[in-house]
Amino acid sequence: MKLLEERIVRDGIVREGGVLKVDSFLNHQMDIALFREMGREFARLYKDCGVNKILTIEASGIGIACITAQEFGCPVVFAKKNKTKNIAGDVWTSRVESFTHGKVYDIIVSKDYLKKGDKVLIIDDFLAMGSALNGLIQLVHDSGAELAGAGIAIEKAFQPGGEMIRSKGVRVESLARIESMDPAYGVKFC
Ligand code: 5GP
Repeated sequence: MKLLEERIVRDGIVREGGVLKVDSFLNHQMDIALFREMGREFARLYKDCGVNKILTIEASGIGIACITAQEFGCPVVFAKKNKTKNIAGDVWTSRVESFTHGKVYDIIVSKDYLKKGDKVLIIDDFLAMGSALNGLIQLVHDSGAELAGAGIAIEKAFQPGGEMIRSKGVRVESLARIESMDPAYGVKFC
């Protein structure tokens, strides 16, 4: 998506260690006009899939997920990052490893909001190692819901997540795919 790529080039900041900061329009301040265009693009890509629920993960996926859900006219469910040791039995749960934060945590979704009969589109801001997306896919499978696919704003294609998830037969659509990036020369797209 040209608009998103141009914005990354203009306002993204490449940090050492393969981290892209997009706080000015996506991860802290949110550009809603840009989000609307991203939502429209996800809706175009998945329009014939019968999507009736959007699933994302707190916190930074929620904004894009909500705007995308407006296009589909469906609710958004966000997986919560569980902070307690005891997980009650009325939730679906899976494990996510964050390489950017160096942490492992459980994510949970209430069984009331994800179940058989749902046709789910997963939305997230970044795809890097694929752990967050993998955890969300696990929740969908465990719940008996059907997975339409995933819509990602920015895929760091030089990291293995995209290939790992696609090799499982999951449809992944990314609006901007970064081939390489470096603090000195910036971002190169696929
Ligand atoms: P993964 O589980 O695919 O390694 O990473 C996905 C999550 O890590 C995303 O939801 C995002 O919050 C975070 N993340 C991974 N790489 C980056 C990055 O380069 N920049 C930012 N801002 N977040 C990232």
